[in-house]
Amino acid sequence: MTNSSGGQPGGAVSADDASAAGPGGGFGGAAESPRVPSLSPSRASDFLTCPLLYRFRVIDRLPEPPSPAAARGTLVHAVLERLFDEPAARRTPQQARALLQPQWERLAAAEPELAGLFADEAERSAWLSEAGVMLDRYFTLEDPTRIEPSDRELAVAAVLDSGLLLRGYIDRLDVAATGEIRIVDYKTGTSPREEFEARALFQMKFYAVALWLTRGQIPKLLQLIYLGNGEIVRYAPDEADLRATVRKIEALWRAIQRARSTGDWRHRQSRLCDWCAHQAICPAYGGTPPPLPAAGGSEPEQSLSLS
Ligand code: SF4
Repeated sequence: MTNSSGGQPGGAVSADDASAAGPGGGFGGAAESPRVPSLSPSRASDFLTCPLLYRFRVIDRLPEPPSPAAARGTLVHAVLERLFDEPAARRTPQQARALLQPQWERLAAAEPELAGLFADEAERSAWLSEAGVMLDRYFTLEDPTRIEPSDRELAVAAVLDSGLLLRGYIDRLDVAATGEIRIVDYKTGTSPREEFEARALFQMKFYAVALWLTRGQIPKLLQLIYLGNGEIVRYAPDEADLRATVRKIEALWRAIQRARSTGDWRHRQSRLCDWCAHQAICPAYGGTPPPLPAAGGSEPEQSLSLS
């Protein structure tokens, strides 16, 4: 494992300690509600996929209807998180399946619009059973009775030298007795073809950078668990990887800032358009985007409330 103590590209602030001063303007008290430029892997990925999609989500903040696939992802993540509340011996496929229904009820209570996803009980039940298949598949990839995660749904936040705040949530963090760190992310889709693997790993390297800055330690392993087809992608990053990731994030952020200042949010058509909720207002499909909101509008990716 590589440890770094001093040559890191930025400062660190843990998500639990957001009142600490940060570079590039720092963090003030809660009463000031300072706005800090920030970026998460999901929104970074949106911009890489299509700048216009990023605009619709971050600048316009357009609502998106829930989808069965996204809801299933949330449900499976919730079950896998709760599974580790159980004593090791009870982390069985049966127990995971037993958690499905109560977790679904919790989710549906928190987001009532999810109830409208299904035409009838049979449809909902088929959807739930697909989630059960994914959970069964999880047990073919890992033995959770032998894992004691250090953290689940871990919020991370770290500030680069430029003042950009990186933030996100790590599904699971495992720390070995020797101190080595493994970042684990569950995906309910299928593993990407080789040419798209770098894209999938970018999110993990993003988290690795945030942890490096926060803990002064480069994670030993990044592990993506694809429950859609039962594959695991593993990658061991080194310092050069993470420095390259920082450069990529900074370049991406500059491109986002350029689009913000020029108003030039280009659409980029790809097969991912099939899942885009905004085709009706996208020029690629004959639509017209709404006028940009007035400058200074609330942008979730660019403000950090400390209250
Ligand atoms: S439909 Fe495709 S090109 Fe248009 S905004 Fe969505 S992702 Fe971008």
